[in-house]
Amino acid sequence: MMNSPPNTVLVTGSNRGLGLEFVRQLASLPVSPSCIIATCRKPDNAVALKKIASKYPSVHILKLDVTDRENIRSVTEKVGHILEGQGLNLLLNNAGVGPGGDLYDVTEDIMMHTFKTNVVAPLLVTQAFLPLLKSAAKTADCIGLSWRKSAVVNISSRLASIETNEDYLLGRYPYKTSKAALNMVSKNLGVDLREDGILAVSLSPGSVRTDMGVPTAPLLPHQSVEMMLQVISGLNEDDSGSFLNFTGELIPW
Ligand code: NDP
Repeated sequence: MMNSPPNTVLVTGSNRGLGLEFVRQLASLPVSPSCIIATCRKPDNAVALKKIASKYPSVHILKLDVTDRENIRSVTEKVGHILEGQGLNLLLNNAGVGPGGDLYDVTEDIMMHTFKTNVVAPLLVTQAFLPLLKSAAKTADCIGLSWRKSAVVNISSRLASIETNEDYLLGRYPYKTSKAALNMVSKNLGVDLREDGILAVSLSPGSVRTDMGVPTAPLLPHQSVEMMLQVISGLNEDDSGSFLNFTGELIPW
């Protein structure tokens, strides 16, 4: 059974894949968040997301390219207005890119673009939302750390694990190094924000059939997201700063 959900949530990259599924499942919970900010780069083209928003008034679509600093600034302002004094309980840094790039063909441009999207952006988005995350943590009526108080969930990947690297697809320098760096962001945030009542984790969705995932991936988006929400709903202070699988188990760094 999932613990009662956070009141307010923001998801990045919510027009397709796992982000879209997060919004769909959060909006359709029997007791659902009062406000779900679903962000994406091109709201005009986000047909599936707009369909969800038309069914659930709790879903607000905002344009956010996570690599655009001015856009991050303007979106935090808009979110502040939409939340009308409430804080932000859950920030789901889901947007990401997964380009190839092995030892022989990787380029500086691919490395930089991937780091900007997968590492720098989640950090700067979190930084921008700190006042709203802190405000949620301060006003929440619960003890300990949890998603009902304030949580930052960075969607990482099992491929980030340095310890188990040899078990997985070798190569993929941009993706694997960027997600490993994202894990350090999560760990740092977990330590830095503990005092403020905010927890932070890296969470791997498993291998999922999305545009980024492989067509033969064992999980469908709804299965992965269902399990991730189960894990997120059970997070507490002992989990903050950790790297977790969609099953809830720790993944070796
Ligand atoms: P998809 O490729 O289906 O979706 C990626 C999402 O990220 C899209 O909404 C895309 O938007 C968005 N995005 C990319 N760049 C930006 C940007 N600059 N600003 C805003 N949004 C952006 O992939 P998944 O749904 O599978 O991936 C979601 C997360 O899960 C990623 O972080 C990924 O690394 C992670 N993951 C996925 C796995 C899988 O097997 N699928 C395995 C492990 C981790 P747009 O449509 O505009 O491009």
